[in-house]
Amino acid sequence: MFIYMLFCIFLFMAVQERVVYLDGDGIPRYWYNILPDLPEPLPPPLDPETGEPVSPEKLAVLFPRELIRQEVSEERFIPIPEEVREVYRLWRPTPLIRAVRLEKFLGTPARIYFKYDGVSPPGSHKPNTAVAQAYYNAREGVERLTTETGAGQWGSALSFACHLFGLNCRVFMVRVSYEQKPFRKVLMRLWGADVIPSPSRVTPIGSRILEEDPENPGSLGIAISEAIYEAVSNENTKYSLGSVLNHVLIHQTVMGLEAKEQFKLVEDYPDIIIGAVGGGSSFSGLFWPFYYDKVSGRAEKDVSFLAVEPKACPTLTKGIYAYDYGDTARLTPLLKMYTLGHNFIPPPIHAGGLRYHGDAPTLCLLVRKGVVNAVAYDQIEVFEAAKLFFQTEGILPAPESAHAVKAAIDKAIECKRRGEEKTILFSLSGHGYFDMKAYQDFIEGRLEPFAYPEDKIRENIETLLSKKLLFR
Ligand SMILES: *Cc1c(COP(=O)(O)O)cnc(C)c1O
Repeated sequence: MFIYMLFCIFLFMAVQERVVYLDGDGIPRYWYNILPDLPEPLPPPLDPETGEPVSPEKLAVLFPRELIRQEVSEERFIPIPEEVREVYRLWRPTPLIRAVRLEKFLGTPARIYFKYDGVSPPGSHKPNTAVAQAYYNAREGVERLTTETGAGQWGSALSFACHLFGLNCRVFMVRVSYEQKPFRKVLMRLWGADVIPSPSRVTPIGSRILEEDPENPGSLGIAISEAIYEAVSNENTKYSLGSVLNHVLIHQTVMGLEAKEQFKLVEDYPDIIIGAVGGGSSFSGLFWPFYYDKVSGRAEKDVSFLAVEPKACPTLTKGIYAYDYGDTARLTPLLKMYTLGHNFIPPPIHAGGLRYHGDAPTLCLLVRKGVVNAVAYDQIEVFEAAKLFFQTEGILPAPESAHAVKAAIDKAIECKRRGEEKTILFSLSGHGYFDMKAYQDFIEGRLEPFAYPEDKIRENIETLLSKKLLFR
């Protein structure tokens, strides 16, 4: 009897554990929020006018109430609305795949797994949050969303999500990508969105920039300013951000929560988790649930975390940890983050989604505390890694995701040298089938191994500090 009771208790606990995270169909019921588990409280966003923490009411012009609530929530598990899970069912759960042929090619004793979110309708992890954001906006009576996009991944994800929930959508697309990457523009338009190259003449901010420099290639910082301006100056219009903010990263945790269950099925557990970082949403979405295991004493291994960025936009590896604006025109609150300066215009590399001057404050805090490590690569070595991955595994990575592929390969080679049988997990956040121009430039030898000069970065940061446009 006693044994039987023990067994029942065990079974109940096992079932409980499952119910907390996943439905029978493998799709999470809750998102995980890291805020209560950070090593120290997150420095709050500051109002640039007062220097005080921003009041939630001030954010209400930009975001619906529920997203503001999630942004500051200390609730560890946030229920996913059934309407959102219904849409997730179109492509979730996404596969966790072991890269056996890549392992063989490298001759590594390491096991390499990737979580592949390129199977979503827009081809990346971004709809995980776009769908949730469109849903909450629609539920609160918003009629139109504005946003910015780099390579077009976020723009297409939000266009898709807006279409599903009957919202209008206007996307400011960084000009260099608008010209280099014509096909995601087509996706956005097919989903009914209105796509405008930024800087544009639609807003006074864009017009001013174009007057000074008609050839300005644009940047995410400028496009964010334009999208915010539009949202603030129009009725029933709100703004939507595809990375950086807490609520965005929270929605992305469906990836890590699914991956944890999938690892149980193959009786394995990662030693290291790797992700490319533009603002930090895909990487955080994958590693947060494992970080939770670690801080709550549930982790099977002492898992470590590695962020990967381009040498052309080396925020975590060469930036300063300071309060900076999220956009070029300084319309946003100040965020404590690693930054290259809000006026930073990165060179037009092909990984458009990694060209942001800052990163998510949660990720920056974890890097600052040494919980997450960071490494930077130039685009030639990244495209070489993407090519090898395509040849061995048959999936063409998004240029952004290819940064994680490169780091995973380097770790696997290191395991070979040391004879270590580690388990490597990386995020294949998207496919690269709309980035053929980038791959064409690569095979035709037109890419430069660009690294942003460190002295130029220092100089820009010093100038901003002395003008009091950046605060320690
Ligand atoms: C946007 C994007 C990224 C970078 O953004 P994060 O917020 O850092 O994830 C990475 N991979 C893909 C495929 C993207 O579209």
